[in-house]
Amino acid sequence: MINYENYFTASIDRLKKEGRYRVFNELERKAGSFPLAKSHITGRDVTVWCSNDYLGMGQHPKVTTAMAEAIGRVGAGAGGTRNISGNHHHMVMLEETLAELHHKEAALVMTSGYVTNEASLSTLGSMLPDCIIYSDEFNHASMIHGIKNSKCEKHVFRHNDLEHLESLLQASDPARPKLIAFESVYSMDGDISPIKDICDLADKYNAITYLDEVHAVGMYGDHGAGVAEREGLMDRVTVIQGTLGKAYGVMGGYITGSHALIDMVRSYAPGFIFTTSLPPALTAGANASIRHLMQCDEERERQRYNVKVLNDMLKKAGIPVMPTMSHILPVLVADAVLCKKASDMLLNQFDIYVQPINFPTVPRGTERLRLTPTPCHTHEMMFELTRALVWVFERLGIKPDMSVLKKAA
Ligand SMILES: *Cc1c(COP(=O)(O)O)cnc(C)c1O
Repeated sequence: MINYENYFTASIDRLKKEGRYRVFNELERKAGSFPLAKSHITGRDVTVWCSNDYLGMGQHPKVTTAMAEAIGRVGAGAGGTRNISGNHHHMVMLEETLAELHHKEAALVMTSGYVTNEASLSTLGSMLPDCIIYSDEFNHASMIHGIKNSKCEKHVFRHNDLEHLESLLQASDPARPKLIAFESVYSMDGDISPIKDICDLADKYNAITYLDEVHAVGMYGDHGAGVAEREGLMDRVTVIQGTLGKAYGVMGGYITGSHALIDMVRSYAPGFIFTTSLPPALTAGANASIRHLMQCDEERERQRYNVKVLNDMLKKAGIPVMPTMSHILPVLVADAVLCKKASDMLLNQFDIYVQPINFPTVPRGTERLRLTPTPCHTHEMMFELTRALVWVFERLGIKPDMSVLKKAA
């Protein structure tokens, strides 16, 4: 007979042996002093270098005030699902803002970006008769699960490889519905997809497109609507998906698209229907954050400047920063155990917090430290980070070969 406890322990031991057992830091973020946070592991203040609160909007007074005000006025929770008493005024206003932001007819907010991808892709794929889904090989786990749950025929195309995508589209029955699912900014490598070319292929083969702009909303384009805005392509993409939890600094996820498409997902997606609505405070905070970033470039500009400064500093110091097209600076370690060790050393000896990124988030052998400079990081912090990385990489003998990246891809 199976010994359940032994089985649980053995599965964890396997991860530990490989050096990819996940240990969570325990932080208390300091509103007003971001990116500083108190670590309850070390007991000291640390500088956070791996936050997805890319613009520090989680502490922006407009956001925190809107949230506090909403709680004071309407209380804590939404009180129900969207259908049964939980469809509140703040939520409706947020969806109007999102539709306006992406120049779409409608938007639908869900619990998180993950839930949005899972619920939307599984519903789109299962509603469209005999649909085929084409999915970039580096797509996020939430898209992969949504596609899996749609039970559609699925083809994975090599990362950002237009020729491979076209060959797959060409080989399929022209009469069948098709959906191409991809991201704009790929957050573990920092590269950006050829949105225009993918939309051209979609037109040629009568496919619809589903673009995850989770790492781009708030960050790119004159109003922070993402890479599709920056490139003037928002009207070419069928569905734009985003999160309210990264650059917008709060929580939640959404899709935007045509009235009919959004209404179909609203009406059929279990992951949207059978769960409590996000509370008014979160939606009010997200709305304030989006509105601010629609009319103000200041955070984006300072952030871009800091990314450039840190990238230059690290390269000059000989730190193996991977080539990036975005705000994400991945530093290659190429070994799971060393990656974890480097992260521990940075935390314990330098009060610098960078989480190690290991398999399955990235392919084995391409383990890395992923740095996300925000507008709130100072020159002093960047200098300290560079100095610490040089010390740690020397001590641990980390000298990765960048060609592992090509092999992995
Ligand atoms: C983080 C992430 C999501 C999920 O968004 P959450 O709001 O954190 O659930 C979806 N897609 C990508 C590419 C992501 O990195």
